[in-house]
Amino acid sequence: MSTIDPLITAEEIAQATAQLGARISRDYDGKDLLLLSVLKGSVVFLADIMRQITIPYAIDFMAVSSYGNSRTSSGAVKINLDLKQDIGGRHVLIIEDIVDSGLTLSYLMGLLKGRAPASLEVCALLNKRSRNEIQLEPKYQGFDLPDAFVVGYGLDYAEQYRGLPYIGDLRGV
Ligand code: 5GP
Repeated sequence: MSTIDPLITAEEIAQATAQLGARISRDYDGKDLLLLSVLKGSVVFLADIMRQITIPYAIDFMAVSSYGNSRTSSGAVKINLDLKQDIGGRHVLIIEDIVDSGLTLSYLMGLLKGRAPASLEVCALLNKRSRNEIQLEPKYQGFDLPDAFVVGYGLDYAEQYRGLPYIGDLRGV
């Protein structure tokens, strides 16, 4: 596996995670909070943000994949793993690794809104704003990314690089 230079260092990620965790802890104090992680890329971010949130919460997982070859064609996604619990009346915060076109997240949010949560927000570590086809504006966001293909900190390329402690641009290799 080749070496990839950091685009966002482990220290910068740790700082962002601490700030996001503090904000979430303040905003959801006294609320029934459910952290919803979208597998698989967001698991490292979830594990870190969980340790920065100081209020009680539950966690659950969903797994989705795009239909067809082109992920940008329709935005329709297939649900490969659904939630194990009812989200009606609960405060759901989606923990996402990266938003690119925004189509996956927008589809997921539409689906979840239909289940009547008390609130539904997004915490995304990375957002390629210049590539967003749908304006989502996650309430919580770590970094705005240029148009790059990044790996590390949970993000993969063909299942590789997930264990890198930092985020790097694969195109630089
Ligand atoms: P969207 O529907 O926003 O276009 O795509 C979001 C999904 O595409 C992410 O959850 C992630 O799985 C994948 N993705 C988008 N950009 C990148 C990237 O730069 N690196 C990696 N590893 N995955 C990406």
